[in-house]
Amino acid sequence: MIDLHLHTTASDGRLTPAALVALAARTGLDVISVTDHDTVAGLEEASQAAGDSGIELVTGIEITAVEEGRDVHILGYFFEPSNIELQSLLTAQRAARIQRLREMAARLASLGYPIDVDAIVAASSVDRRSIGRPALADALVSAGCAVNRRDAFDRLLGADRPAFVARCGPSLAVVCDVIRRAGGVASLAHPVLLGLDDRLPRFAEQGLSALEVRHSEHPPSVEQHYRGRARALGLAMSGGSDFHGDGRTPAAEHGAVLGQVTLDLEDFDALRARAGS
Ligand code: AMP
Ligand code: FE
Ligand code: FE
Ligand code: ZN
Repeated sequence: MIDLHLHTTASDGRLTPAALVALAARTGLDVISVTDHDTVAGLEEASQAAGDSGIELVTGIEITAVEEGRDVHILGYFFEPSNIELQSLLTAQRAARIQRLREMAARLASLGYPIDVDAIVAASSVDRRSIGRPALADALVSAGCAVNRRDAFDRLLGADRPAFVARCGPSLAVVCDVIRRAGGVASLAHPVLLGLDDRLPRFAEQGLSALEVRHSEHPPSVEQHYRGRARALGLAMSGGSDFHGDGRTPAAEHGAVLGQVTLDLEDFDALRARAGS
């Protein structure tokens, strides 16, 4: 079984890279990709653990681009993680994340939810790890101000909610270009959550090579819809669970259960064939 979309404590997942790989092995996965937000900090530990448990680890990442004021999540695979251009893009992304979280924490404070953002930044932004809104959500939960991450997003942190601050960032074209020049392939993550279907032809022209057709938020009809779009646009197909959890609190917060959303070998081979081209 293949799952190409997984998060760890290097960004907003709940398991360390080694613990995630161990859980993946117990679940019966044999090819995985750790795709943390704007960082490759988890890959070394994941790679060691994968070697120990006989799992194939595909180099991966999920980079946030911005199009028309909306966050666009772009998955990268098979790239060289030490690539200098990629590293400098990611360093800038992580600095912008810290700045944005500070602005959102200020909003939260003015709304009556004081959060110790310095502690969040200090604890989470070491070793090239990245931080994001889920860290604020977790702080709100710890303070008794939210039931879980989803609740914190629904009331405070989501787009159009009072503590939300829009981000600035590179375009999809720039992100795809950096991934390709690092030898990788770029896939549009969970397109159904983005809602920019009319832009797909332009994204394909701008360097996007694949669509994430399989995802925990894609029911069969949605998967078929994006398979059709990918075929029509000459794009490859990727897929994965987008698991952020610890395997013990399934679905309550983010919908993903490990081992339930996988990618066919045929799609995986076609995706790999695009890398670096
Ligand atoms: P950020 O990277 O700071 O923009 O935060 C986005 C991350 O928040 C996503 O990658 C998800 O992991 C998480 N997220 C987004 N929406 C929700 C939600 N409604 N409930 C829980 N987590 C969410
Ligand atoms: Fe996430
Ligand atoms: Fe995403
Ligand atoms: Zn993700």
